Amino acid sequence: GKPVCECNTCYGGPDCSLFSSDCAADANSGDPLFLEPFWMQHATSSAVVIAGWHRMSYIFSDGSYISQELENHIRRVHAIARNAITKGKYLIFGGGSTQLLAAAVYALSMNLSTPAEVVAATPAYPFYKTQTDFFQNMHFEYDGDALLLKNSSDTTANVIEFVTSPNNPDGNLREAVSQGPLVSAIYDHAYYWPHFTAIPTPANEDVMIFTISKLTGHAGSRLGWAFVKDEDVYHKMQSYIEKAEMGISREAQLRALKLMKAILLGDGMEIFEYAYKKMSARWQKLSNIILLSQRFSIQEIPPLFCNFFEKVRGPSPAYAWLKCERQEDKNCNAVLQAANIIGRAGSLFNVEDRYARLSLLKSDDDFNLLLLRLNKLVTEEDEHK
Ligand code: PMP
Repeated sequence: GKPVCECNTCYGGPDCSLFSSDCAADANSGDPLFLEPFWMQHATSSAVVIAGWHRMSYIFSDGSYISQELENHIRRVHAIARNAITKGKYLIFGGGSTQLLAAAVYALSMNLSTPAEVVAATPAYPFYKTQTDFFQNMHFEYDGDALLLKNSSDTTANVIEFVTSPNNPDGNLREAVSQGPLVSAIYDHAYYWPHFTAIPTPANEDVMIFTISKLTGHAGSRLGWAFVKDEDVYHKMQSYIEKAEMGISREAQLRALKLMKAILLGDGMEIFEYAYKKMSARWQKLSNIILLSQRFSIQEIPPLFCNFFEKVRGPSPAYAWLKCERQEDKNCNAVLQAANIIGRAGSLFNVEDRYARLSLLKSDDDFNLLLLRLNKLVTEEDEHK
């Protein structure tokens, strides 16, 4: 009969308790549900109740679109994570960090005499190109791989480089590859938290973008923030957000404030310790499987000194960057797909399809299913030799 509850695609039966053995292991999206159990443990301190009459206005009482309380709390969270120097920098909120990526390109390209070439080193998070192409205008255009541009001899072009550190998909800590007086960089630090990487030093770039999506896991709230050093760039980014959106939803800001307050209870270190432990255990489990494989390899991330933990720590990346080593496995994602695993193809990151990305950020159920399917795939390698 028809299920009375709404089952997800992996379960069926009248009470959604029957596991469907042909269910795919979906490791495609970067949905950060790995933190859901943390927030279940902190359900009371993180809950928000909003009275019907509360915060109806376009503006806060100081006339701004930004909650000063939230700004102060965000600065405190960075001080505890020791991942960014925020003093002397302006703060702007965006609809997710996604909106701030566009705001930053706009601000850095507006007054140039020739259009800016927007680049990112490969393998690169695809959204920089998607968005730059989508918002096309006479001030900028997407120009592909920053490494190719660096190797060309043209040093007269205005360049805006997206620097993703740690990088999505491979978790590498990065610096800008473009150099020179006409270059500006937008540092996308979505994953620069102890959850996903050692923090060798606090980030201190002119434009740094963060997001609640990968800090607390609340991707659906759509709240990101940028720290900006230059006052003029700050005003232009702010003007973009105001024109596009008249500021960010007050409810999103209120929820973010409650989450920040919950994070800051006690010594404020719990979420980082929890997230690191979880992500590092996931990486260990995945690595143990891939170690047995001749067919697949994953990126190597060296142990590094971490400013937050004040010791050398191992890897805990958000994604596995899988390489299919066999000559004939040119399409790694198809190899995964045949084993009922959904990954993301290398070509989306502007490299060969011999690579594929697996998300390690999803729920425990998703991750465990991924391990199960990968283990099967690797165990069967020998039989097919
Ligand atoms: N930058 C990077 C590198 C990302 O991986 C993501 C999300 N996957 C974002 C930005 C966008 O995040 P959001 O808009 O949710 O803040």
